[in-house]
Amino acid sequence: MGSGYVYHCPDCGEATYIALGIGSEYTPQKIFYGDDADPPLLKDFLPYQMYCNAVRMLHDGGVPDTTHSGSYGQKLYYCPQCRTLKVRFFCTIVKDDQIWTPVYSCELCGRSLVLAPNQENGDDPSRDQMAGADGDVLRIRCMKCGRVYFAPESGCTSKIMWD
Ligand SMILES: [Zn+2]
Ligand SMILES: [Zn+2]
Repeated sequence: MGSGYVYHCPDCGEATYIALGIGSEYTPQKIFYGDDADPPLLKDFLPYQMYCNAVRMLHDGGVPDTTHSGSYGQKLYYCPQCRTLKVRFFCTIVKDDQIWTPVYSCELCGRSLVLAPNQENGDDPSRDQMAGADGDVLRIRCMKCGRVYFAPESGCTSKIMWD
């Protein structure tokens, strides 16, 4: 079960939907290995080149970390330069002494995205969590008008469970 949060741009009203965690239909088998008919769901979650790297590691004996519910799924990342939140798929594949996780970059400035802290439970973008490791507030960027705003202050949030 994942959690969804809706925030509304204070300027244009455009909704930003943040879906975190992972649906219960998305078993580790389906995500990392796929089945007879379908490729691994990783293909939908990762940019293509990254997907190829992940599949190569799995083929070569890499093992995905599926030990707890937060070990893979949609998580909050942020750009340390733009201070804006992004949702990206997180997972870990371990092979010998190698540990692979996806590395994303900001589409605006190119900096590497950082995983937002305090996501142990994976699904609560509370006020505390809307800060980076250095304590600076993180914001949402409206995809329609470009306005950047602090989510808990947008005054209009709702929570949805998704499956
Ligand atoms: Zn950036
Ligand atoms: Zn807007």
